[in-house]
Amino acid sequence: MTRNRLDTIRKTLLSLREARLQQCRRQNADAAALLDEGVADIADQGQTDNLKDYLHLLSDAGREEILAIDAALERLRDGSYEICESCGKNIGMARLEVLPFTRLCLTCQQNVEQQESSKAGPVKGQI
Ligand SMILES: [Zn+2]
Repeated sequence: MTRNRLDTIRKTLLSLREARLQQCRRQNADAAALLDEGVADIADQGQTDNLKDYLHLLSDAGREEILAIDAALERLRDGSYEICESCGKNIGMARLEVLPFTRLCLTCQQNVEQQESSKAGPVKGQI
């Protein structure tokens, strides 16, 4: 990859990071407002709990993405950006342009997704 392309990706990652941060802040504010209003409207307490879970998941995903972006920026610095973390092969520019903060090549990503979808039960608390 050329220097210019790396610079472009770095800028993309930084603006993605900023957008995610803002989105997280907004979601947290929305969640707080929704929960305040929701308690009066939703008689069934179970629904309020579901809403809380849902909003919690959303902000977790945002946080994870920000961490992934930070890790990608670090890999840009140390030169391992294009290398798949799992198998050591080149991830490929086409994939990185679509998913600039991915750590895995397509094959490894598919393996991970298969494993995750075959897991039974809640994944909370697992790392
Ligand atoms: Zn791989």
